[in-house]
Amino acid sequence: MLDLRQAFNKRSYVEHFMSEKAMKNCTALVLLASTLLFAKPQFEKYFENKTLRIDYFHSGTAQTEIFSLDQVYEEGEWPGTRNQLINNLQLGLYEAQLYDMETSELIFNYGFCSIFGEWQTTGEAINGIYRTMHETVRLPFPKKPVKFVIAKRDTNNNFMPIWSTSVDPNSRFVNREKKQHPFKIIKDIDNGLPFEKVDLLIMGDGYAKNERKKFRRDIKHYINVLFESPPFSSRKQDFNVWSIEVISGQSGIDEPRRNIWKDNALGSTFNSFDIERYVLTMENRRIRDIASIVPYDALYILFNASRYGGGGIYNCIATCYTGQPENAPDWWSDYVFVHEFGHSFAGLADEYYSAEVAYNDMYPLHLEPWEPNITTLQMDGQPKWYNLLTPGLAIPTDWGKVTFDSLSGVRRSLSHSDADYAKKKESLAAQINAILDADELKGVVGCFEGGGYSSEGIYRPSINCRMFSKSVVEFCPVCQNTIERVIDYYIK
Ligand SMILES: [Zn+2]
Repeated sequence: MLDLRQAFNKRSYVEHFMSEKAMKNCTALVLLASTLLFAKPQFEKYFENKTLRIDYFHSGTAQTEIFSLDQVYEEGEWPGTRNQLINNLQLGLYEAQLYDMETSELIFNYGFCSIFGEWQTTGEAINGIYRTMHETVRLPFPKKPVKFVIAKRDTNNNFMPIWSTSVDPNSRFVNREKKQHPFKIIKDIDNGLPFEKVDLLIMGDGYAKNERKKFRRDIKHYINVLFESPPFSSRKQDFNVWSIEVISGQSGIDEPRRNIWKDNALGSTFNSFDIERYVLTMENRRIRDIASIVPYDALYILFNASRYGGGGIYNCIATCYTGQPENAPDWWSDYVFVHEFGHSFAGLADEYYSAEVAYNDMYPLHLEPWEPNITTLQMDGQPKWYNLLTPGLAIPTDWGKVTFDSLSGVRRSLSHSDADYAKKKESLAAQINAILDADELKGVVGCFEGGGYSSEGIYRPSINCRMFSKSVVEFCPVCQNTIERVIDYYIK
């Protein structure tokens, strides 16, 4: 069965990302996959309307990866899809798979990324230091024993199994206790049944007892920010939004580089992986225990800090700071909130880069990254968004990169102590924006060099995007298309 599964993955990648010319050479694979698609598993046959939560420890270095089971839980209603049990989104570094034990049939899968997977690219991991992180996958609750598999992409982007364990859903080894907590749960937007909608859960971190009102104000603000941004603006009716008023012992979150330590309930911390503005949390079990009462598809932690920071890991978690402590947060946090959700909800890559970094280890140039919005043009010289390209456009697309890089370099070298600092900064920003707002490239989809942290060899779909520039600009057409596909996955 696993062999067939690999063929299926190959075909999915072909269908989504290869050029039409190359597609014609893959007829055999497509025929094989069609047979598999007709045998679509039925939700009622295999699953109950409950959630199977599998917690495990993910350990190792950059080169080694070890999984060990922590605990299997039965949780509340299943909020995810009942119609697309075999997911064809092709997103994520890892894939969780459930196989029926009796027939070996694949009955459910979904892609995801993990903090461990990202940590593997850090110097600490490359230097052979071992670390352990706690992770959770959530699946529909099977009626009969299943084999649970975690697969990871190989260099050709096919998912290959790297860990498996068996789960008997009716055994005493499944923890069925219902978690309790004292925190208030609010359904901020109610558009219908969880399994027919995208259920977004936002939890507060670093809010002290006397800051509940602030949490409510912040939630209201960021829900508005999200649903003012296309394509979310036209898909609001496809979402339910929940929030949990988690109360922390102290206001704020940890900032190790400033020796600031707070008793915040969900463990969000600045300087994750020792990066200044990167905010993640290692308190996965605690977060999942609290969240378990709500049916959720996507998880967001809004942390109470005026200092810029955030993070987003696909199908895992997003974090964002709340902005200025006054009532109205600044636009920087509005930008971050939607940008990080682009990572965590739709698996979008960062499209920005620094001209000083020509190449990096994150995306080797001889491999095609799986992320939907960056390409190294490894497949027939075509981007994976070939079906959205503006006709007649040159690939790569000329966009004034040399001038942009030189202006960006000057802006980076500006110092607060410079004479006329503010004036110079403003003038540079205006010149940079003039390039990014060029009329002839508005709404155009091509291949713009510079993306995925690399100045050369990696291309993004449009001149500007919420994943490219630190501004409240809209997502580019390719990112919008991906977000819509993910929304459709949950609701259709
Ligand atoms: Zn984009």
